[in-house]
Amino acid sequence: MPTQPLDQGARLALAARAEVAVNLSEAVKERNAASAERGAPLAAAMLRFKELHGHDFDPRSRRDSAMLLPLLDATGAGRMTWEDLEAGLAAEAEVLEYQELAIRAVKALVDAWQPVPGQTLLQWIGCEPEELRAAVDLERAIWEETLAALSRKLASGTFWRCWSCRAMFATTQRPKPASGRCHRCSAGTGRTDS
Ligand SMILES: [Zn+2]
Repeated sequence: MPTQPLDQGARLALAARAEVAVNLSEAVKERNAASAERGAPLAAAMLRFKELHGHDFDPRSRRDSAMLLPLLDATGAGRMTWEDLEAGLAAEAEVLEYQELAIRAVKALVDAWQPVPGQTLLQWIGCEPEELRAAVDLERAIWEETLAALSRKLASGTFWRCWSCRAMFATTQRPKPASGRCHRCSAGTGRTDS
């Protein structure tokens, strides 16, 4: 598909976004490592899930969640507390969200970079290393501000986030259920959340 060549600013933005998204994804994975460990028996169940159903367990799919339940006991995940399970699943969902973000950002960069043999990223952008670093810092600052605003929103209690699918809800429109899972995620899993 022929595409319009991007101007220098757009090339710089794509590169900065990809770098920040990958860094963010790694930081989220690291931050969630302990929670993921608590959910280790769950990881074994998810491996079994893949063997049985031929695709990765998606914590945002209620169909997948329902199909995972019988495997939890088989893998020893049955001895986990609900809190272990929730921590593990929530960690998984957050890591997945940022991984997908990073994959999309890197793909956008790769798709835009028409390959010229031996060309470096800086040559393709047409900028100095300092310019790229400044663009990365700016992009990171924007991200940090966005995430801080989100945290403030959640801390105020006017919004809550489903730990399973990571969707946001206004508390006045849909009060937060005790399980912390939204109506879509709890439907069809046998857990009644209301
Ligand atoms: Zn949900």
